[in-house]
Amino acid sequence: MRRLYIKTFGCQMNEYDSERIAELLAQSHGLEWVEDPALADLLILNTCSIREKAEDKVYTQLGFWRPYKEREPAPLIAVGGCVASQEGERLRRRVPFVDIVFGPQTLHRLPDLIDARLAEAAPQVDLAFPELEKFDRLPQRPGRHGPSAFVTVQEGCDKFCTFCVVPHTRGREYSRPVPDIVREVRQLLDQGVREITLLGQNVNAYRGASGLVGELGFADLLRRLARLPGLMRLRYTTSHPNNLDEDLIAAHGELAVLAPHLHLPVQSGSDRILRRMHRKHDVATYLQKIQALRQVRPEIRFSSDFIVGFPGESDADFAATMDLIEAVRFDQSYSFKYSPRPNTPALKLKDTVPEPVKEERLAILQGRINQLAQEYSRALVGTVQEVLVTGPSRRSAEEWTGKTPCNRSVNFPGPAGLTGQMVAVEITEALPNSLRGRFLPLRAVS
Ligand code: SF4
Repeated sequence: MRRLYIKTFGCQMNEYDSERIAELLAQSHGLEWVEDPALADLLILNTCSIREKAEDKVYTQLGFWRPYKEREPAPLIAVGGCVASQEGERLRRRVPFVDIVFGPQTLHRLPDLIDARLAEAAPQVDLAFPELEKFDRLPQRPGRHGPSAFVTVQEGCDKFCTFCVVPHTRGREYSRPVPDIVREVRQLLDQGVREITLLGQNVNAYRGASGLVGELGFADLLRRLARLPGLMRLRYTTSHPNNLDEDLIAAHGELAVLAPHLHLPVQSGSDRILRRMHRKHDVATYLQKIQALRQVRPEIRFSSDFIVGFPGESDADFAATMDLIEAVRFDQSYSFKYSPRPNTPALKLKDTVPEPVKEERLAILQGRINQLAQEYSRALVGTVQEVLVTGPSRRSAEEWTGKTPCNRSVNFPGPAGLTGQMVAVEITEALPNSLRGRFLPLRAVS
């Protein structure tokens, strides 16, 4: 076995897990990542089960890989992630040519599972939840990153929102020890990374062993990382409003390195629906936290998650969601129609909202958020932005692309060798999905 192909569905945590799997198998089996699945000796599908459609995609994808099994020697096929965790043996029975099924918490055991599959010629399934073992068994981060990298600091969730599979597929909340996180971030900064995004299903619920006495909360972890030399920008996702405490709000005012952009899922603008979702907060509390953040960091922008058509959602409930969008003026959203998920309490609720109504509400919601995003992009024209250059632009060889503090993509012409630099760019044009700019060499930021 020499060549590895990984296909990743779902969230940034799955992206991070896939990156770590590739690093692990490069070290344990010398596997090289290939872009063409037809050439791979091991194919891995890292799955997401957040929505019905996400699950269907898994079986479709495995169907595309079935013919590779005709090859001599046949490649191994492994399925990981949340659908694997949710379906387990059922998945294996439904797709018998799958060799290995592993969960988000057992991806570090893949080298052993591969060896066992080859030695015993029998399928391997490992869906245990051995909390911290995973990170202790993952190798050091080898250098192959651009200027931005993800670092998982927390996993699992104890919130049990009635529509969500995550607590069932990723397990209970646990936080990595502070020294392990600091070590991983230092390694990445030494390799030229300049922007770190901290990941967790409920990242701001982080409470990890300090390495000295007791634990540190999320705000203190941010303060600790913000002191690391070379770090230019720090982001984190995904948060729960209930874990956005005063200390974390204060940190947004203190830490210039903390990007003025926060993804804060709310799901609905109706208190009645929030109760049915078991979100454990109301709209007024959510707005207070937005207001408090704006007080300490006036330029901060927000994105969020929305579900339309949750069982029982009336026109008035949906109107309340649109009112909330007007009040906060979100910049971007991950928004979906409600779909019943296995093992979730909402499954017992009658799915009352007709599909065409869900479609219509989703279109209205996404249409309005796109308008707000365009409005904000237009307001940036004429301003000078600090842009972290992520690399050459795909648009033209003379151009660079990068991200503003508020996560907007900017393309601009500039001199050679700007990747990883924080530069000053005057915004000259707002396009539907990106900005154009003019490089200001004399105002270069780093
Ligand atoms: S807080 Fe997020 S991850 Fe946790 S159950 Fe709710 S929606 Fe799912």
